Amino acid sequence: MRTVTAYATPSAKAPFEKTTIQRRDLGPRDVLIKIHFAGICHSDIHTGRNEWGEANFPFVPGHEIAGTVEEVGSEVDRYAVDDRVGVGCMVDSCRECKNCLAGQEQYCLQGMTGTYGSIGADGRPTDGGYSSHIVVDQNFVVGIPEGVDLDKAAPLLCAGITVFSPLKHWGAGPGSKVAVVGMGGLGHMAVKIAHALGAEVTVLSQSLSKQEDGAKFGADHYFATSDESTFEQLAGSFDLIINTVSASLPMAKFLSLLSLDGTLVSVGAPSEPLEVPAFALIGGRKSWAGSMIGGIAETQEMLDFCAEHHIGAEIELISGDDIGGQIDAAWDRVVDSDVRYRFVIDTGSFA
Ligand code: NAP
Ligand code: ZN
Repeated sequence: MRTVTAYATPSAKAPFEKTTIQRRDLGPRDVLIKIHFAGICHSDIHTGRNEWGEANFPFVPGHEIAGTVEEVGSEVDRYAVDDRVGVGCMVDSCRECKNCLAGQEQYCLQGMTGTYGSIGADGRPTDGGYSSHIVVDQNFVVGIPEGVDLDKAAPLLCAGITVFSPLKHWGAGPGSKVAVVGMGGLGHMAVKIAHALGAEVTVLSQSLSKQEDGAKFGADHYFATSDESTFEQLAGSFDLIINTVSASLPMAKFLSLLSLDGTLVSVGAPSEPLEVPAFALIGGRKSWAGSMIGGIAETQEMLDFCAEHHIGAEIELISGDDIGGQIDAAWDRVVDSDVRYRFVIDTGSFA
């Protein structure tokens, strides 16, 4: 066991505290990663505030990890010391079920092992990336190409892949009209990636306050959902809608914006149920779907795509003194939709 520095919350809604945690000894196929940066995902907050059920405390969140390899196990052949690497939302899966064999480890039929909140290979609860180091099997580590800075790359490991996967799956590209609902962490990545894929991109945000930023990220159009005329104006417009909102929305209104055979994909995961009247789907042969992160190979494909297109996240860096207080404040700002557009913790300064 190796003792490393981390920030944990001792109970739901309690302030973050500096602490130490144990990482397992390196197995033959394990990689010890020095974490340079960890993104703050809204899922960390849903989990840490018990919005998805009772979490395990003390809770060390973080599943947007970017760092460098510090040490490798005897059989590691994919990575070497000093390589730039990332870890996302999962650190293991059964590797044998049909979904794992298809490269869809996130849908492992035995349940994938989460980077936090699961039981790890050593039988202990897994702790996330708000820490100085992590030990991960090489098959669940991805390479971060040169061409994207590590701090701006960290959010790609969850926010980036969570929107890349459905955009690819539902064919976003030249000639397709894509709407992104909510321009927070996931949403701003969806705008950048959909634009780079060649789609015509519309942002549907609560207000027009971030319109200029949306244009910078590649949005062709920008509308406020607080304005009822938006729904009349855009009825039947989109082939694909990616809903990134962390709260429950009136789904029928958003489904009315789909064109014939269009699909609305929910990636936002509010604790409250979403309601869909059958008639919102029947008229126009519409689909309502969900999507969860992406597989390991697809995560690597996304990182390579982002490097090629010079795409990183827009970040606010948490560094220096009172890291715990800054994390508490960042969580509140994310919940208030006051994030521009991802908080990233300078975990490299912990040790
Ligand atoms: P985020 O940064 O907080 O972004 C969510 C955005 O939704 C906000 O910035 C805001 O954008 C909009 N919004 C928030 N509350 C709203 C409300 N009451 N009504 C309308 N719009 C509202 O969060 P995130 O990190 O991007 O995560 C978004 C959601 O995706 C979370 O539920 C998270 O758990 C989930 N998630 C799912 C996956 C997956 O695999 N499916 C992966 C990661 C995260 P505007 O101000 O522009 O309206
Ligand atoms: Zn996440």
